[in-house]
Amino acid sequence: MAIPKDARIQLSPEDIPKRWYNIAADLPNLQPMIHPVTKEPVKEEDFKAIFCDDIIKQELSKERYIDIPEEVRDALISLNRPSPLQRAYRLEKYLKTPAKIYFKREDMSPLGSHKGNTALAQAYYNANAGIHTLTTETGAGQWGTALAMVSNLFDIKTTVFMVKGSFMAKPLRKTIINTYGATVYASPSEYTDFGRKVLKEHPETSGSLGIAISEACEMAAKDEHTCYALGSVMNHVMLHQTVIGEETLQQFGIGEIEPDYMIACVGGGSNFAGFTFPFLREKMAGKHKDCEIIAVEPKAAPSLTKGEFKYDYGDTAGMTPLMMMYSLGSQYIPPAIHAGGLRYHGMSPLVSAAFDQHKISAVSYDQTDTFAAGITFARTEGIIPAPESCHALKCAIDKAIECKEKNEAKTIVFNLSGHGLLDLYGYEQALEGTLPKSGSD
Ligand SMILES: *Cc1c(COP(=O)(O)O)cnc(C)c1O
Repeated sequence: MAIPKDARIQLSPEDIPKRWYNIAADLPNLQPMIHPVTKEPVKEEDFKAIFCDDIIKQELSKERYIDIPEEVRDALISLNRPSPLQRAYRLEKYLKTPAKIYFKREDMSPLGSHKGNTALAQAYYNANAGIHTLTTETGAGQWGTALAMVSNLFDIKTTVFMVKGSFMAKPLRKTIINTYGATVYASPSEYTDFGRKVLKEHPETSGSLGIAISEACEMAAKDEHTCYALGSVMNHVMLHQTVIGEETLQQFGIGEIEPDYMIACVGGGSNFAGFTFPFLREKMAGKHKDCEIIAVEPKAAPSLTKGEFKYDYGDTAGMTPLMMMYSLGSQYIPPAIHAGGLRYHGMSPLVSAAFDQHKISAVSYDQTDTFAAGITFARTEGIIPAPESCHALKCAIDKAIECKEKNEAKTIVFNLSGHGLLDLYGYEQALEGTLPKSGSD
């Protein structure tokens, strides 16, 4: 039997997209970010203490397309771009579904997730601006790892504030970050005023993303050659991730694929935005009328499905600008789940606007169901998905089962945002039957 043409659709390095797509040009009624103190719309100057000029311009841009610098395209090759679009034949067979299931392979990056796509763009612009150090926070560890790796490509240093709980629970993440040459501190730390203050008041705290963000921003604000880098939520991060979706469009062309469902998981929204926004542009232009675009979130942090569309802070301390977004409230601390990358109270303002305008839909799942999907995928396709990606996978499997019941040969495409080889503890619990249910209905 010949290998089918759509088994795995590869592109060559020269097919790496030449420009990013900025959906801010095509979404009406976007609300500006609001300054936390003056309550005025945020201006370019307000960001200067923590971001370099090119990043600020991209954050506020309404241009539809922004050219990807040659150096960044070249560096994307080290992240194994372009990534394949692959068909999940064995999963289809196992489910006995007439549906076709495809997945975009962000797990093939040496970093194990999509996060490098924006990390390297941010490292490039900062290095160009004469910045010598980037600071950031990391919870689960994927983002800190990504920034640590790409800073070598652009000769810049990285300091990572890692939430103390994860720092203790995941010592190998620290080893990876150190191997790439970056510095990693358990947060709260002794290296910032805010960290020292928290430690004094709560010496036993295991930290939080909110505290780590405050520490990273403080360090960036205090040194003119140090800037801050963020791994999700903000507009420039959504922009950089659109290489995923632009590649996918090329692959749809080659494989003559017309999707009925496009599915990705959402934490802050970046892999979802990157994967679906270029396609949504085509859909808004009148093509692909019947395709449903689905954001999948955990029941533990259901910002789109249960949150409110309102102005809210990005962090717990209320130091970031107010963003118009779906939020569970900046004081909401999601219960501990293994999909640490999805544990966020808010949602990208661009993804939020697309949802508010009914251009996309959303569902939520409990982690017991998503890990079961991950185990099925491992046993059929041979890949252990990241706990985050299992959310998209679970939704794809549900749609494929629906197709079986209705005997419809629909086409389902989901984004495999990363692999789970560094997050095996959740799988261990799932296999032993000790995985706690995480959400409420
Ligand atoms: C960080 C992460 C996510 C969630 O972040 P988004 O910005 O919503 O994409 C999802 N999957 C993986 C593998 C991650 O590392």
